[in-house]
Amino acid sequence: IQNNTSLLEFGKKHVTAGLARSVDGVMTKGAGSYVEFGDGKVFLDFTTGIGVTGLGAYTMFPRNDSSHVEHFEGHCHPKCSIAFTEPYLQLIERLLPMMPDPSLDSFFFWNSGSEAIEAAMKMARLFTGKQNIIAMQGAYHGRTFGAMAVTKSKTIYSEGFHPLMPGVFSIPYPYWHQLSLPPTTEQSEITAQCLNQLHLVLSQQTAPRDTAAILIEPLLGEGGYVPAPAEFLKGVREICDKEGILLIIDEVQSGFARTGKNFSIEHAGVRPDIMTIAKGLANGFPLSGVVSRKELTDKLKPGSMGGTYAGNAVACAAAVAVADVLKEEKILENVNARSKELFAGLNELRSKPSVSPVILDVRGQGLMVAVEFASPTGTSPYDSFVKPSAPARLSSRIAKRCQEKGLLILTTSVYEVIRFIPPLNITQEDLNKGINIFSEAVEEVVR
Ligand code: PMP
Repeated sequence: IQNNTSLLEFGKKHVTAGLARSVDGVMTKGAGSYVEFGDGKVFLDFTTGIGVTGLGAYTMFPRNDSSHVEHFEGHCHPKCSIAFTEPYLQLIERLLPMMPDPSLDSFFFWNSGSEAIEAAMKMARLFTGKQNIIAMQGAYHGRTFGAMAVTKSKTIYSEGFHPLMPGVFSIPYPYWHQLSLPPTTEQSEITAQCLNQLHLVLSQQTAPRDTAAILIEPLLGEGGYVPAPAEFLKGVREICDKEGILLIIDEVQSGFARTGKNFSIEHAGVRPDIMTIAKGLANGFPLSGVVSRKELTDKLKPGSMGGTYAGNAVACAAAVAVADVLKEEKILENVNARSKELFAGLNELRSKPSVSPVILDVRGQGLMVAVEFASPTGTSPYDSFVKPSAPARLSSRIAKRCQEKGLLILTTSVYEVIRFIPPLNITQEDLNKGINIFSEAVEEVVR
């Protein structure tokens, strides 16, 4: 295939229509906070492949020098069930001190976030001898069969693919939309209502003796970028302890310094029984993991967990390098400094008289931040999913305008939300550049 245009046409013809893409182009390379396309266009990348390349775009290696290349040398045997590999064990050594609770001391690695979710649910069933899972409305946990059953952000992920895995119940996420409350509602009110819903589900639909686990993203990702109030997470933990239910915390998108702590759940000081990790773990290499307590994982029979590429040595070596860079380059400090600037920039935009009526909320943790817009009159946030003729969402128009100005930025699955998930090591200069482009785009679109 000769040139960029014919490559793109080839892709459109031969890649399944089920793949949605943000940019109509072929990405060829990346460095730091920038990505380049085959037609020569360069974009500032505030998507990081949805939180994957936290330490730099698509360079794969977390550093541009070769200091970590040695990690990869000689590690090409992928199968962890033949024998442990050094990178697999080195990775566990790096991850142990990062865990949100010292009780999390038993690891298993997979390839994707979805597989980690599947494994977490299987483990919860085996550890408790119970079946049912309570998931959150608006949640995204993946597209494989079990993960699809607990994904509740929009029907596109399950439409046409039913019947789903049985034994899944749901309660609203502590997000005002899901309770039909105004955005100004106190967090305590939202928390009380959601905990009440949990009590209702446990008394009306799935008794505690049938409920294996409650599965939560501590910062709702695809469903709107909403941090769960600490009091809500603490309340869920209490119910789990009282009723013998396990708490599965999905940190696939929010983990690895993304929220200004190693894991988002640390903001609430709550202990997970099982935690899923992926994305930022290996900066673009396919690697995910499930973490739990040895006392629980000892119940697994040898052979019940595994997969050809699960925890392959090359991906583990990349993750070892990521863990080292996070520590050595004090990435958490950068995330927290840049986060303050991001919030300041977005709140400044919000204070402008031309913009303030359309911005409902600026929220998030660290560099996982959202701006939510008011839906223009007459359009429901769901219209563009159900009616192809519906006018494009305001947030989609803003994202498109940003793209025209050289900034790649993402919406979320629902409502009028733009999410900011830039590289964790982004410079002050690049962050400001992105905020300026976004601010201009918003003013132009809402004018
Ligand atoms: N959980 C969360 C919170 C996610 O954000 C995602 C991916 N967006 C997944 C699970 C699924 O991960 P994967 O796409 O690697 O299967």
